[in-house]
Amino acid sequence: MRMSEGCLIVISGPSGTGKGTVCSALLAKHPEIAYSISATTRKPREGEQDGVNYYFKEKTVFEEMIQNGELLEWAEVYGNYYGTPLAPIREKLSAGKDILLEIDTQGALKVMEKFPEGVFIFILPPSLEELEKRIRGRGTDAEDSIKRRLNAAAGEIKLAEKYQYAVINESVEETVETVAAILKAEHFKSKRCTAIINEISKSKGE
Ligand code: 5GP
Repeated sequence: MRMSEGCLIVISGPSGTGKGTVCSALLAKHPEIAYSISATTRKPREGEQDGVNYYFKEKTVFEEMIQNGELLEWAEVYGNYYGTPLAPIREKLSAGKDILLEIDTQGALKVMEKFPEGVFIFILPPSLEELEKRIRGRGTDAEDSIKRRLNAAAGEIKLAEKYQYAVINESVEETVETVAAILKAEHFKSKRCTAIINEISKSKGE
C-alpha cells in the first residue's frame, strides 16, 4: 500500500494510567513507528539505558540544549527537566515515517501550538480510584509522591479535551488496538495524502 505522509503522534496521560505500557506495546506491534527519545535531567531508574529510554543529561547540558534551540519543547515535571530533541523528528517526518512522543501535558500543549498537524491522544484511567490502585500497585512511589501524582492527575485529566482523542485504558491490548485504529484513520486523511492524490491525478491525464 502506498503510504501517506508521516504523523507526529503525541501521547500523554497521568502518571500510573499505563501510557508507558501502551506505548511499548504499540511500538512492539508496529516497529515502523519511531520513538522519540527524550532528554532528561532525572537519574536513570534500574534497567534504564542512556540512548534507549532517555538521553540522561546534566542540568547544565540540558540548559545548553534549550539555548541552542535543540528541543521542540521542554518542561519541568516532578522537579526534573524533560525535553524532546528536534532533529530526529525532522529526520523521521521528512522520510515519511511516523514518530511517537510520550510527553507530559505541558509539553504536549506546546507541541500543539508549534505542530497543530500532529495527532494528539490522551490516555485516561477508568477512574481516579483505579488510578490510585494502579500507582499503589506498582509499589515504586513513596506516600508523598503518590499524593502528588494523584493531585496532578485531576488537573491533567481536565486537559484531555484539548487533545483530538481521549482513550480510556481499561485493558492494554484494547487500548493499543484503538490507538492503532486512530493512526490508521489519520493516515487516510486527505491532507496527508496530497502527494498520492497528485500522483494519481497526473497518471490519469497521461
Ligand atoms: P518518567 O520520569 O516517569 O519517565 O516521566 C515523567 C513524565 O515526564 C511523564 O509524564 C512523561 O510523559 C514525561 N516526559 C517524558 N519525556 C518528556 C519530554 O520530552 N517532554 C515532556 N514535556 N515530558 C516528558
